[in-house]
Amino acid sequence: MPPIYSKELKTLFIQHAGQLRQTRTSPCEDKCLLGNAVQKVHTLLAEGRVDEALLWLHARNPFPGVTGRVCPHPCEDACNRARHDEAVAIHSLERFAADSGRSAAIRPMPSTGRKVAVIGSGPAGLAAARFAALLGHSVDVYESSPVMGGAPRQVIPDFRLPKDVVDRETAAAIEGDVTVLTNISVGRDILLSDILSRYDACLMAVGLWKERILNIPGKEWLEPAVAWLRRMTLDRESFEGRDVAILGGGGVAFDCAFTARRLKARSVHLICLEDDGCMRAPAEEVRQAREEGIVLHQSLLSRGVSQRDGRFRVEAEQVRSFRFDETGKLHVEPADEPVFALDADCVICASGLMLDDAALAGMDVERTPRGMVKVDDRFRTSVPGLFAAGDMAFGPGLVASAIRSGREAAVSIHRILMGEDKVVEVFIDGEGQVRTASADAAVTPHVVTVEEIMNVDYHEHAPRERQPKRDAVPGVAFHELEGGLSAERSVKEASRCMHCGHCMECGSCVESCPGHILEMGDDGPFVAYPTQCWHCGCCRIACPTGSIAYKFPLTMML
Ligand SMILES: Cc1cc2nc3c(=O)[nH]c(=O)nc-3n(C[C@H](O)[C@H](O)[C@H](O)COP(=O)(O)OP(=O)(O)OC[C@H]3O[C@@H](n4cnc5c(N)ncnc54)[C@H](O)[C@@H]3O)c2cc1C
Ligand code: SF4
Ligand code: SF4
Ligand code: SF4
Repeated sequence: MPPIYSKELKTLFIQHAGQLRQTRTSPCEDKCLLGNAVQKVHTLLAEGRVDEALLWLHARNPFPGVTGRVCPHPCEDACNRARHDEAVAIHSLERFAADSGRSAAIRPMPSTGRKVAVIGSGPAGLAAARFAALLGHSVDVYESSPVMGGAPRQVIPDFRLPKDVVDRETAAAIEGDVTVLTNISVGRDILLSDILSRYDACLMAVGLWKERILNIPGKEWLEPAVAWLRRMTLDRESFEGRDVAILGGGGVAFDCAFTARRLKARSVHLICLEDDGCMRAPAEEVRQAREEGIVLHQSLLSRGVSQRDGRFRVEAEQVRSFRFDETGKLHVEPADEPVFALDADCVICASGLMLDDAALAGMDVERTPRGMVKVDDRFRTSVPGLFAAGDMAFGPGLVASAIRSGREAAVSIHRILMGEDKVVEVFIDGEGQVRTASADAAVTPHVVTVEEIMNVDYHEHAPRERQPKRDAVPGVAFHELEGGLSAERSVKEASRCMHCGHCMECGSCVESCPGHILEMGDDGPFVAYPTQCWHCGCCRIACPTGSIAYKFPLTMML
């Protein structure tokens, strides 16, 4: 068979059945935690069409300003351009579109008359509410805290994620038939069974808020990290002249350390098991911590906390090595060193989060071995009518994966409420109207590697555009540490995308075909004379995106 083209998406999908209209895709789209149409967004941004780019992002994610800032962007780790010069700054472009664009309104489907309850207004709950409302359902969101937005609003510190960004995007997410009831804790103010009896379906997305506290002598003196961060994020408190010790080496521990620094603590110490070779926090954060004068005490196992004259003493044992076994139990090999001791005014414990059972009070809901709520591939729990998404179902995760699960759960609820047997695809038509269609099973597209882009030199070398850094001055301010790209630099950066696996209509294949069997039409290149292709491969060699596949005829193999 002559060339088979893999083209860029033309339809604005909220959810589609595994990229049925594309046979190939790029590593960035394959690795995006929430399934962004990354290349389409880059095409639009390279042409300066920021509002349209934002609409493509909003079609799958109500919070691109949040994910553009805090998503650890596995898409960039996978980007083919890294093997050419440097990875495309995908998250900076996402942030630029979110901060600069004005997305057109999306019109919901006609009312279905069905009522859906969502418990929890974090990324998973609000994404579910947004997409369930767009699918024509009436949604009530129950939130225990006085503010919407979940962990991004309550605990992710301002210098990584300004709260006005979260507030702007949460407000837009509840436009339409969504009512939010804050300060209502399910399990305390209203029972889950009551909610189930009043709605056609209920989605729980209460996240993980119960803190794991180290079982050591003096554990009663430990401040749970997330509760401390929540207090400091919502209310602030000065730590001027006080010494702070943090037990833990993950992202939450580092967020506490940076926050204590900005609250003017006299000294900030982080005590963790890990050494530089195996830190759980990103290398960038470890570097920044040292720059800010945060003292890292590594390869230490906390043994106890005692109180003396209003101060606390942390004692820890030096370890040579450690490992967790398959049950999660810690095994350490102690080093032959004297006991480590440190005095502090406040000791924060950041050793993990669990599901708080309170919201499930009175309901017998099946759990996973790790204590999360067990769901099937349609987000159904063991209780009829009850669905679950986000961290409470899948364990400690990321904002982007929570959003994806909320969106997919909303489509699943719609499919079940409307009695659809087939896979439901959801898209936005040219008038901005949400529509659905039934689809057959999904096809998994081939992910194009850089080796498959034979004309990679078509893409001129160009350095990656970097977001301007603001000085991280110790103890100074909660301002955001990185600025955004300018409009001019976003065009430059988006133009660096090589469009791996999706035709960008450059015409090289048409020009290079010695038999002139290819032509350029309104929808890009096409095979005008299929029977005359002799499979020389010239088009594929000339293609700068790796978008062409072949099925060689049997006769060629004989
Ligand atoms: C300190 C910290 C820093 C983080 N940093 C990052 C980061 O940089 N990047 C990243 O991608 N992810 C980060 N995460 C993880 C990310 O925030 C979570 O994975 C994500 O927020 C999970 O979304 P969710 O909707 O499942 O739950 P949540 O965001 O936890 O939202 C759950 C909501 O339910 C509400 N709720 C709880 N119980 C009840 C109840 N009984 N009744 C009614 N409402 C209830 C809560 O108040 C909350 O608003 C961080 C997490 C923490 C704790
Ligand atoms: S959501 Fe995360 S993984 Fe997806 S494109 Fe944005 S930064 Fe990349
Ligand atoms: S070059 Fe563009 S399409 Fe290819 S992996 Fe990177 S961002 Fe994705
Ligand atoms: S050579 Fe250009 S026009 Fe042809 S398939 Fe590749 S990107 Fe598309």
